[in-house]
Amino acid sequence: MDNLEIASMKASDINHVLRHIYETLIENQDGALADYIPELAKVDPDSFGISIATNNGKLFSIGDVETTFTIQSISKAINYCIALELLGKKAVLERVGVEPSGDRFNAIEFDPRTLRPYNPMVNAGAITIAALLYDHLGSEAYEYILDRFSLAAGRQLKLDEGVYRSELSTGHRNRAIGHLLLSTQAIEEPVDAALDLYFRQCSISVSATDLAVIGATLANLGQNPVTGKQVFDMTAVRNTLSVMFTCGMYDYSGNWAHDVGLPAKSGVGGGILGIVNRQLGIGTFSPRLDFNGNSVRGIASFKILSDEFGLHTFDPTNRGSGLVAHFFDH
Ligand code: GLN
Repeated sequence: MDNLEIASMKASDINHVLRHIYETLIENQDGALADYIPELAKVDPDSFGISIATNNGKLFSIGDVETTFTIQSISKAINYCIALELLGKKAVLERVGVEPSGDRFNAIEFDPRTLRPYNPMVNAGAITIAALLYDHLGSEAYEYILDRFSLAAGRQLKLDEGVYRSELSTGHRNRAIGHLLLSTQAIEEPVDAALDLYFRQCSISVSATDLAVIGATLANLGQNPVTGKQVFDMTAVRNTLSVMFTCGMYDYSGNWAHDVGLPAKSGVGGGILGIVNRQLGIGTFSPRLDFNGNSVRGIASFKILSDEFGLHTFDPTNRGSGLVAHFFDH
């Protein structure tokens, strides 16, 4: 598709672009379902949906945008934002760094200089954040984060019990990471409660539209543009988006920043959450994953969206900066 003339576009054109992306990618069956926990392999591999929410509360979508799947690692970004807000940046940075690790997301490895997990987007960092949240909130921690996730999505979310039980019975590697963190005093007891919070946060059920609205809440300085409720502190959002930009896409984060140029987070459930700051939240769902654990059609969708709409943070034409006003607001 040729680059589109932004000033002359209307909502109907957005839908046209979404249809084009959907039709281009629907035949793509590359990648494989996550099967490291048995429940994840039970989803329909052909599901595919793209949802966009603007920072003035409008929704555009195509495909299976109401189909639910587990949020998985996308929860790491939201919990990081909550931890920054509740505990402050200094206390959180003392426990978890903000450097890309260059290792697999479930690597049992810490930054050798600090003995902290590299960043909150790898499992070791996310389990540390869960431990900090449990320490701060006690046995209410899960209900508290579920409530915040729900406020960001603008509807009551719930746990996928089947995936949660599957995580519990197969999460040996995450348990190993938790106990190693305990042994280096990176976290404190009760480690089982922290791990339980981590397994639960990964098992929250969302749709592509939920991801888009959560993204729009982050894009909109922490205020949900659909409900009008302030959900996150704006300073915590700034720091969260920064880590999403550098570390959000597993071992593909450098390529992603280069080619797509947006803060984002993916999960092995097949979701990707992307943010165009001050403008859009974008949620994609397609469960076949590449080697890195990222959704194949999700990445392809974001590449096309970024190119067509000039969404890359450093797009030379700066076409993206007036998107909502000029383009999504007709
Ligand atoms: N529950 C998963 C795990 O901890 C989440 C990981 C992911 O989405 N990459 O292994």
